[in-house]
Amino acid sequence: MAATLYRDAALADGRSPSLRIGVSILVRDGRIAWIRPSDAEEDPGDAVVIDAGGSTVVPGMVDAHSHVTLPGGSHWIQRGLDPPEALLRAAEENGRLLTGAGVRWARDVGSPLGVDPVDGRQRALCLGVRDRWRGRSDRPYIRAAGTWVTRAGTLEPGLAAEADDADALLAHALHQVHDGADLVKLYLDGPDPQTAPWSAAEVRRVVEACHARGVRVTAHATRFDGSRVCAEAGVDAIEHGFEIDADTAHLMREGGIAMVSTLAVIRSWQSFATTTRIERFTSPEGRARVAAREESALASVRTCLVAEVAIAAGTDFGGGSPHANAIAWEVEALVDAGLEPWQALGAATWRGGELLGEPEAGVIREGGPADFLLVHGDPLSDPRALWRVWHVAWTH
Ligand SMILES: [Zn+2]
Repeated sequence: MAATLYRDAALADGRSPSLRIGVSILVRDGRIAWIRPSDAEEDPGDAVVIDAGGSTVVPGMVDAHSHVTLPGGSHWIQRGLDPPEALLRAAEENGRLLTGAGVRWARDVGSPLGVDPVDGRQRALCLGVRDRWRGRSDRPYIRAAGTWVTRAGTLEPGLAAEADDADALLAHALHQVHDGADLVKLYLDGPDPQTAPWSAAEVRRVVEACHARGVRVTAHATRFDGSRVCAEAGVDAIEHGFEIDADTAHLMREGGIAMVSTLAVIRSWQSFATTTRIERFTSPEGRARVAAREESALASVRTCLVAEVAIAAGTDFGGGSPHANAIAWEVEALVDAGLEPWQALGAATWRGGELLGEPEAGVIREGGPADFLLVHGDPLSDPRALWRVWHVAWTH
């Protein structure tokens, strides 16, 4: 099989603030045969040579909070109730967008329930998509949570698995595992904004049962009380975490609980102030509310950073309003929150891989898969370089 030599690129792997320059990488049979200084290459044999001068190699990215079967946009909530055929079409479009944006792995944290028109199974729709994309270089690898497990009355009726009590919460979570979910997603904001919908003991029971089956549990929490419950219950990660105080961040650090940021969703709401007629985004009160939300979310990321909580980058595309090619938006926002650009790149690469328990995800190493891309510019001084995807190596 043909080999490809990427000659004289820069390299940023999200683990240090320094950009390596003058790097050549030989890919053979889809794997990285060697990485050498460009002035000390080994004989590349009959490799096709790609002049990569002026571009930067980065690891295939990991979108740690995604909804692969949903299209996003300002009507994202309504789109969740589209028929399965439409959602599977959206997934194929998302798969193309993700690949073009340099996303190799997507962690899907909730898809609508339905009868999959391809395999006929009644379950969370992303599970069939994951299975069918396996082994395809033009689609990302998916790890999927099944559907959202939530308190009845929280999400749109018919969308998710709704529990009235703690026994049902556990049963629904285990049902997702039975259906083939790779992880379990608890939607932990309740219909009553004043109180967390479940106690830490109730959530811990779900965590223990899932861990006993080798499955991780993550939880959507956007308020102080919810993130506190998550941290006390020992979930594996907190999604969004728009409100996390220093005590909770400390508990997260102690318990090895990751924080998955989704700041791009707030940025997209801000864009709707001028692109839509939706009152809660366009009105002065709406804009002020979103601005306050952003301030709190950025502060939470900073609190986690100071507490040395592992931070992984997610876009919430589909289940929130961004589209599937917005991972660079999240990296930019993390830098605005206070991460160094290399840390933000790490959040969008190997940190997501650790969250998935996938050692090859977001990592570039000799002998590993050729899951890297080349962007124009230096993402360690300007995170916007990640928008400028020039070449996605694993599709060639
Ligand atoms: Zn989400």
